[in-house]
Parts: sequence; C-alpha cells; structure tokens
Amino acid sequence: MAATDFDLFVIGGGSGGVRAARIAAGYGAKVALAENDRFGGTCVIRGCVPKKLFVYASRFSDEFEDARGFGWTVETASFDWTTLIANKDREIHRIEQFYEAGVKGKGGVTYKARARLDGPGALRLDDGTRITARTILIATGGRPQRYGDIPGAAHIVTSNEIFELKALPKRIVVCGGGYIAVEFASIFAGLGVETTLVHRRGKVLRGFDEDLRDGLMEALAERGITLLMNEALGGVARDAGCFHVALRGGGTIETDLVLSAIGREPATHDLGLETAGVRTGAKGEIIVDSFSETTAKGIYAVGDVTDRVNLTPVALREGHAFADSVFGNKPTQVDHSLVPSAVFTTPELGTIGLSEAAARELGHEIDLYKSRFRPLKNTISGRNERMLMKLVVDRATDRVLGCHVLGPDAAEIVQMAAVALQLGARKVDFDATIALHPTVAEEMVTMREKWVPG
Ligand code: FAD
Repeated sequence: MAATDFDLFVIGGGSGGVRAARIAAGYGAKVALAENDRFGGTCVIRGCVPKKLFVYASRFSDEFEDARGFGWTVETASFDWTTLIANKDREIHRIEQFYEAGVKGKGGVTYKARARLDGPGALRLDDGTRITARTILIATGGRPQRYGDIPGAAHIVTSNEIFELKALPKRIVVCGGGYIAVEFASIFAGLGVETTLVHRRGKVLRGFDEDLRDGLMEALAERGITLLMNEALGGVARDAGCFHVALRGGGTIETDLVLSAIGREPATHDLGLETAGVRTGAKGEIIVDSFSETTAKGIYAVGDVTDRVNLTPVALREGHAFADSVFGNKPTQVDHSLVPSAVFTTPELGTIGLSEAAARELGHEIDLYKSRFRPLKNTISGRNERMLMKLVVDRATDRVLGCHVLGPDAAEIVQMAAVALQLGARKVDFDATIALHPTVAEEMVTMREKWVPG
C-alpha cells in the first residue's frame, strides 16, 4: 500500500468525520482525514461549545438580579467581553487538540488541507497531492447562508464571525427566526446589548410546538428584546461608526452590529462531487441511503452535509454507524425519529418527539397535559418568568408522543425524558414515577388533568 493509499479517507475534521475516522481506525483500517480549517468543526470552533459558553456568560445578569431576593447585595457587577473571548478561546483550543489527537492516537494520518474528489476512489489535496482510497467519507458540514442581495450586505456578519468579535456592541440587530438567531438575540440581551430580532415570518422557531413558540416570544419580549416579525432588511448603510438598517416595511434602525442567522446550507461547493457521480438534492445536500452511502459506490456522507437532522449528536451517531457498518462488520442504521433538541435561549427550551400539530397531522387522536407555573426560585427572586411543560399523548395507546419544556434547565430535563420516550413510555408510566421534590421537573410526573382548550 502506498503512503497515499488508504482504506478510508475522510473529508472534514468535525463531529461526524472525526468520530468515523477514530472508530474505523480502531477496527484496523488505514485511515486518513483532511481538515482545511480547525479540528473540531462547527460544533467546537463556531457552534455548540462556544455558544453555550456565551449562554452561561449571558445568564449571570439574571443571577445577580435574583440574588437580591435571597439577601445578597452585589454592588458593582460589570462584564468584560475580552476576558470571555480569551477564556473561550483557551477552552476551544484545548478541545481542538483533543479532536486531532483522537484520530492520530488510533494510528490515523491527518492532513491540514482542503480535499476534493478526483474521480472514483481518488482525491486531490490543495497542495496537489493525489490520494487513493477504497472508501471515502464526506463530512464537510454546513455553512451559514448569506443574507440576500441587498445594498450593504457585506456589512452583515454571520455566526462564523460572531465568536471572534473584538468588542461587545451596544446595539445589535439579529436577523432570522431559527434556533441560532433566537439564541444569539438572547445571549446579547443578557449581556446588556440593546437587541432587535427581525424575522420574515410571524413567529420564531418554525416546527417547534406552538405553545413553546408563543411562550418563548412572550418571554423574549418581556426581557426587552424588540421583536420585529413579518419584517426583513432592505439594506444596511455604514455611517460614522454605526449602521443604519433599512426595513422592508419602512423605517430605519440605528445599530452597531447586524448579525444574520437565516439558515445554513450544506458545504458541498467545489468538492468535485460530479467527478465521482455523487448526487445532491435541492439544497445542495448529499443524497444518501439509510447506511449513509451516496449515489456513488464506496463514497459515504454523514452529518450536516446530508441535511438530515443537523445536530452534533446526530453527526456523531451517523459517523459511528458508518464505521461500524463498513469496517466493523456490524451493519447499523441511525434512527432519526426521536432526536431530542434544545434552544439555549433564556428561558431555554427542550423538546423531544411530536409537537401537538405534528401528532394531529400524522392522524393521532391525542390528549394533552400542560402546566404553566412559577418555579419556586422565582417566588422570592421576584422574577416574573413562568415554566411551561407539555406532554402529547396518544389516546389509543397512552404512549407519550412528545415532551416539550420551556424554562430553566429545560434541556437537562428533556434529555432524561428522552430515555423514557425511547423506551416507549406511556402516560401511566410517567404517573407511576414518584416525584423528586422540590424540583421543577417533578411537574412532568404530576400532571394529571387533561388539558381542555377554551
Ligand atoms: P462540521 O462540524 O461542520 O465539520 C465539517 C468540517 O469539514 C469543518 O471543520 C470544515 O472546515 C471541514 N471541511 C469542509 N470542507 C472541507 C474540505 N473540502 N476539505 C477539508 N475539510 C473540509 N448542534 C447541537 O447539537 N447543539 C447545539 O447547541 C448546536 N449549536 C450550534 C450553534 C451554532 C452557531 C451552529 C452554527 C451550529 C450549532 N449546532 C448545534 C450544529 C452542529 O454544530 C452541527 O450539527 C455539527 O457540527 C455537524 O457536524 P459535521 O461533522 O457534520 O460538520
């Protein structure tokens, strides 16, 4: 075997690619991986991890306020953006090294290079090196969609740049209504930035349960975020150190930063897919079968580039299943039907299974259990935020089809509820579970009254 001939060549050193490379190498395959930016990919470098660190930072303002009701006096709390960025960078650097070491530690070869397909079973690195491999895995992830063709679009930053901002703006306009947009709106508002969210639809978080969408919009507005729905940007002009954002519906907003988070697209540009017969769909996503094999034999794709469920644990699972199937003699398909997800706004949101609307659309006769209450902590803190819990239950089988939470620790609660749903839990199983008191999560097992609209 030549030095440039491999059993497996992986393009992309993010969640899916690194997991697949590690597991395949563990099965004895001769593996190489090319990463053209930083190891760790979106999640580690410019996604989940730095974002969650920002979320933690943004929540201290509430803690300082709430502390008063518990007898604390916090005299002069102040926030320093450069300290946060420096500490975040240190942590990201640590995780990044761990990712590359994970591949090398199993005997894999890593290339700091951009790779593209060069016909069936072959690749070309950007330094011209030609590589051959019996199996190729494309795990190139996704990238932010740029805001449309409007004057001054070049002034608009995306989530890629936001993690490197040199200074905290005083005012920000965030465009979009998906989870990344609302998370950043919430982060900046928590850090004391005057925040406006502009979204072209009437509500944020399309696809989530309506009660959660409504509850979150109410909470974001209560926190002082200006929500401009059914609105879009007409143009951005720079003027004396700030930006004037023209709205399509009329009017202008003066701001210090414009962030667009209007969606992401699969990173399939300039990958040479056509040279090997790899087909893509309408959004540019790589079309794969249930074993993640593309339309070209021996070429597979996992993670965001396939646009199935674009979350890190799913990319990891797909990468692992690919390696088990192709190199471990354990054919494994990933079940995408029950994936828990969270939106790390403040208050946060956690969800698994079917929304009320999705359950009805699928023809289920359902019962709903809902509870909206003030968490104990908010009683003497004086915070006016309420928790929302909702179970969607199939009337015929009593199976819990969906579990939706808005409020503190929603993501942590839903991760555990996910185990129950994975096991096919029925409402009677929730009822039979003894509550853990005093917690907010206990409400999940004490809701007895069916919710009746009206
Ligand atoms: P990626 O992690 O994107 O990795 C792809 C890698 O391929 C990149 O490093 C890229 O540089 C490299 N690459 C691309 N083309 C080439 C090439 N030609 N040659 C060599 N290398 C190449 N998910 C969650 O589960 N929870 C969250 O809270 C969450 N928050 C997020 C917040 C933000 C702001 C964003 C943007 C995403 C977030 N996600 C979250 C989504 C998550 O980051 C992705 O689903 C996940 O990273 C996908 O992994 P992947 O392996 O498919 O791709």
